[in-house]
Amino acid sequence: MATVTLTKLTKRYGTVGIVHGIDLDIADREFIALVGPSGCGKSTTLRMIAGLEEISAGSIEIGGRIVNDLPPRSRNISMVFQSYALYPHMTVRENLGFSLKIAGAAKEDMERRVAEASAILGLDTLLDRRPSQLSGGQRQRVAMGRAIVRDPDVFLFDEPLSNLDAKLRTQMRTEIKKLHAKVQSTVIYVTHDQVEAMTLADRIVVLKDGHIEQVGTPMDLYKKPGNLFVAQFIGSPAMNILPATIDKTGNPTVVSHVGGRKATVPIATPASAKGAAVSFGVRPEDLIIASGADYLFEGTVDYVEQLGEVQLVYVDIGRADLPLVTKLPGNVEVKRGSTLRLSANGEDLHIFDTDGRSFALHEAEAKAA
Ligand code: ADP
Ligand code: MG
Repeated sequence: MATVTLTKLTKRYGTVGIVHGIDLDIADREFIALVGPSGCGKSTTLRMIAGLEEISAGSIEIGGRIVNDLPPRSRNISMVFQSYALYPHMTVRENLGFSLKIAGAAKEDMERRVAEASAILGLDTLLDRRPSQLSGGQRQRVAMGRAIVRDPDVFLFDEPLSNLDAKLRTQMRTEIKKLHAKVQSTVIYVTHDQVEAMTLADRIVVLKDGHIEQVGTPMDLYKKPGNLFVAQFIGSPAMNILPATIDKTGNPTVVSHVGGRKATVPIATPASAKGAAVSFGVRPEDLIIASGADYLFEGTVDYVEQLGEVQLVYVDIGRADLPLVTKLPGNVEVKRGSTLRLSANGEDLHIFDTDGRSFALHEAEAKAA
C-alpha cells in the first residue's frame, strides 16, 4: 500500500523534451488512469515510475520514499504490459511463481501466494496448462496474476487490454475493477481509451504533449472540462464545438453562435470579455429535440447511425465546416432530410476562451482566489 508523488517529473531524450515537469499526488489505494493521444508520454511516465527509464529531472516518491535511483526490483511495483509475454514452456502455475522463485522465496510461501492469486483471478482450473492452451483473456489474467503474486505496493498497467477484442476488453475491464477492490493497492493505469479510463479510474489524468491538461474524477472531467482539449477527448462522439461571440457578460452569459442564434449560459464571464470570440460547446448526448419555439439549433438531418439503444444523428446547420452531431434515443423516428430543432439545458453548455480555457474554470479559480 503506498502513495505515489511525482514532482516536476521530466524526461528528455537528448535535447528533445518528452515529459515536461509533471506534478501529481496519488493517494494510497487510488486507481489513477493516465490518458492521452498516442505519443503524449504516457508509457514514458509509467516506465519512469517503474524504474525502467531514467528520469531527466524531478523526483518520484513511492510510499514516502524517493526512488529516483532505485532499480525496478527495489521499488515494490508490478507492471503489466500490453504484450503479456508469458513463458511458453512453463505452466500457468510456473508462470505465476517464477518471479518469486528467482527472488528466492520459500516453496511454501510461493505455493500460498500462487494459490491466492489464482483464486482471486479464477485461474484454479488452468494451473497445469501452458499459455498456448489458453484464450487471450485467460493469458492476460495470468499476466495480472504474475503481477499480483509479488504483492506490490503499486500496480502499473500499460494498455493491458489493447490486444484483446472488444467484447473481451469489456469483460476484462470489469475484472480489473473487481481486482482492484480485492487487492486494495494503488494502481496507475495507462490507456488511450477514454471509456476504459472513465469506467475504471477514481481520478483521470489527461496528458497532452508531455503536459498535464487536467486531473479530476471522471465526472469532473466530463461535466467540467477545463479546456477544449479535455472537452473533446472525454466523451464519444466528441463535444460539438462552434465559434461564437459574447453578447452579454456577467452571469448568465449570452453568446451568439451559428446564424446569430443566442444561447444563455449559466457561467460568469468578466466585463472585459464582451464581444470576445469564444468556442461554444455542447455534447451530442446533451442535445434534445426542442419542443417549443425556444431552440439552440435548427438544421436538416444529413444522416443517421442507428445503434439500437441510441442513434447518432448528423445535422446540417447550414455550415459545411460545422457538422453537428446529436445522440438521440434509438426509438425516436428521425428521417434523413427532415428538419430538426435541438435545444439543451443551460448547465450542459460550455464556453471556452481563445486559448481554449473554460470560462467555468476561470470562475472556479476566481472563487478560490
Ligand atoms: P505514449 O505511451 O503516450 O503513446 P510514449 O511515452 O511511448 O507515448 O512516447 C512519448 C514520446 O517519446 C513519443 O514522441 C516517442 O516517439 C518518444 N520516445 C519514446 N521513447 C523514445 C526513445 N527511446 N528515444 C527518443 N524518443 C522516444
Ligand atoms: Mg504507450
